[in-house]
Amino acid sequence: MKITALKTFILHVPVTRDGVADSIHTLSHWGAPGVIVETDAGITGVGYSGTHAHLPSDRLITQCIETCFDWLVGRNPLETTALFREMERFPPVQWVGRGGITQLALGAIDVALWDIKAKAAGQPLWQCMGGTERAIQAYNTDGGWLNWSLDTLVSDCRRLVEEEGYLGVKIKVGSDNLGTDVERLEAVRKAIGNKVTLAVDANGRMDLPTAIRFGKYLADCDVMWFEEPLWYDDVISHKRLAETIQTPIALGEQLYLAHNFQTFFDAGAVHYAQPDVARLGGVTPWIQVADMAMARGLPVVSHVGDMMQTHLHTAIGHPSSSMLEYIPWLRECFTEPATVRDGWYVVPREPGAGTTLRPDALARFGVA
Ligand code: MG
Repeated sequence: MKITALKTFILHVPVTRDGVADSIHTLSHWGAPGVIVETDAGITGVGYSGTHAHLPSDRLITQCIETCFDWLVGRNPLETTALFREMERFPPVQWVGRGGITQLALGAIDVALWDIKAKAAGQPLWQCMGGTERAIQAYNTDGGWLNWSLDTLVSDCRRLVEEEGYLGVKIKVGSDNLGTDVERLEAVRKAIGNKVTLAVDANGRMDLPTAIRFGKYLADCDVMWFEEPLWYDDVISHKRLAETIQTPIALGEQLYLAHNFQTFFDAGAVHYAQPDVARLGGVTPWIQVADMAMARGLPVVSHVGDMMQTHLHTAIGHPSSSMLEYIPWLRECFTEPATVRDGWYVVPREPGAGTTLRPDALARFGVA
């Protein structure tokens, strides 16, 4: 099989209530700059990245796919391991990359190649990875945004648990006032009861002393993990925090390289690994990170804001994962959207990586 063309697209899809915020970002749409990889076998693969729908930077990603990796035409898409290595170490791109735009472009391509590989095998990606059918628990982040009022936050989380059957929710923290975060945390724990998993996510905004002070309340509220408490790359401060508070640390959605994870792992600075196929460069390095995490006894709970479809496959397909985030923004784009029933993900059946677009997706959500 040979690749015959790489055709890019950009989707901008509205988010819940037309606007969500965490401690750092505010967005009205989720962006999905991506690529359709065509082959001479008639199989096409789809991969995409995840952005905050900023068109100029989305265009940089699609331009990078088209112009820096056009040499993939003529290559065998099934050789995913070799092609990933070659793309990641392609000298002119490596010189300006190893992160950012080039890694996001690489991630979209690698996912598309895995989509082709699984379709060629006639299997869903989780099976193509060597996994077996099993249930993955969902936790919902879409009721916990920092721009929700306290009343909306509490009623959303209660509804997700009592009416929709979620066994876990996550709320955003990292507001200007630690007291506000404590108030919201305690109100949600009270509303959902003690049997439901609760996690918090500061999106990298806190400093170390604030995070240490918050630790006491996290323990009192039996919080499962404290996500991205500090700036994304600060290994030493995360290690100090991990040694100081009782609540486990989760991070990884902002890390671009498997080596970054290795550094956090070896420092003892993280307990839950949260790789993202879009940021990390695709399914190929996701598997590397998941293998490393499992060897150290650390669970993988992927970041899914952007890539829920594919992360459901990688979660089922790798024994390091038993739980996955749920954010429903891109569901209308795909032929087999990730679906949760009574708190558990439905196992996807279609061959591929879960990225096959509905026929009307480009017309509905595509931008120039
Ligand atoms: Mg997060």
